Amino acid sequence: MSSELSKIWLSSPHMGGQEQEFVAKAFEENWIAPLGPNVNGFEEDLQQYLGNDKQIGVLSSGTAAIHLALVQLGVSHGDEVICQSFTFCGSANPIMYLGATPIFVDSEVSTWNICPKALEEAIVDRISKGKKPKAIIPVHLYGMPYKVDEVGAVAQKYSIPIIEDAAESLGSTYKSKNCGTFGEFAALSFNGNKIITTSGGGALVCADKESKDKTVYYSTQARDAAPHYQHTEVGFNYRMSNISAGIGRGQMKVLDEHVGLRRGMFHFYKSIFETIEGVEVFTEPSDDFFSNHWLSAITVRPEPTKGVSREDLRLHLEQYNIESRPLWKPMHLQPVFEKMPFYGGQVAEQLFEEGLCLPSGSNLTDEDRTRIKKAILEFFQNK
Ligand SMILES: *Cc1c(COP(=O)(O)O)cnc(C)c1O
Repeated sequence: MSSELSKIWLSSPHMGGQEQEFVAKAFEENWIAPLGPNVNGFEEDLQQYLGNDKQIGVLSSGTAAIHLALVQLGVSHGDEVICQSFTFCGSANPIMYLGATPIFVDSEVSTWNICPKALEEAIVDRISKGKKPKAIIPVHLYGMPYKVDEVGAVAQKYSIPIIEDAAESLGSTYKSKNCGTFGEFAALSFNGNKIITTSGGGALVCADKESKDKTVYYSTQARDAAPHYQHTEVGFNYRMSNISAGIGRGQMKVLDEHVGLRRGMFHFYKSIFETIEGVEVFTEPSDDFFSNHWLSAITVRPEPTKGVSREDLRLHLEQYNIESRPLWKPMHLQPVFEKMPFYGGQVAEQLFEEGLCLPSGSNLTDEDRTRIKKAILEFFQNK
């Protein structure tokens, strides 16, 4: 059965149409390098989109962006950095690159993101143990803004800078202000599965021109101003290529349209699961939150669903060649981070056990939706 049906992906690249024009221009002008008109143009487009006087440096990945934010905040060997546990490993790995220790914090139930209470407990305890965390990395997971005011208030109380992980939340807003503009720094990602893609890429959102210049400097091997190659600091090869940036410029033209289509998928699932007891679609807790719904996610509670689990549903969909995926496995439960401190309870852990991401791409067709709906309804009708 599955061999006859084309695969429905969780989230696949969706080109708008103008990307190749920007890439072709780069070829014509021979800007085949990690600098050029597309790099500058993509940065300007992003600055205009995010507003709030932000300055942006485009890079080779979102992970690189978080790394360079940590570098600029002076994080080094032996330091501690607080990180939301319920996330993709790209949020936490850069802490390890610097020889620092990630301190993981649990989520709260309404946004699935970092719990302000557990965050404060973590800070107080780390300070009492002799080390004040150097930064806090909260995440707008699946496009859902974290509790920006509450988390911001805790950070401010202890004067700890925030690096916003906005890799999944371009186009989301909190109290009508863009995600990616709340922290000292924010990281964006344009990986192949994100809301817009440059095939692979990222950006660091900076507070001012000085810090943007620093970002460019560190991402191009920290070269000093001299005719020869002169270096007084260790740098990185993290700048975005002018080819990738061309794809990005084309994608910016369809970003808002793609947000609308992803949100359409969310409403599609809302209507399907309205009448299915025990299944909840991940939804904004109030009008303050506007999610791009990068991925639509559900939780499946085995008790009210008469014993079925998210894994049963995942396997059922797989039979129809429909991809779905468990929610992120929390970092504090990953073998690689096993020994790192963790603060909070079982919120992230339970979400991991009960949660499933469903096909959410902006390029899904009516035919795809019909197949998805049929497969889901069949699964629950047979229970
Ligand atoms: C994708 C992602 C990253 C990393 O971005 P890359 O561009 O893949 O390096 C970081 N954090 C979160 C939450 C992500 O989803």
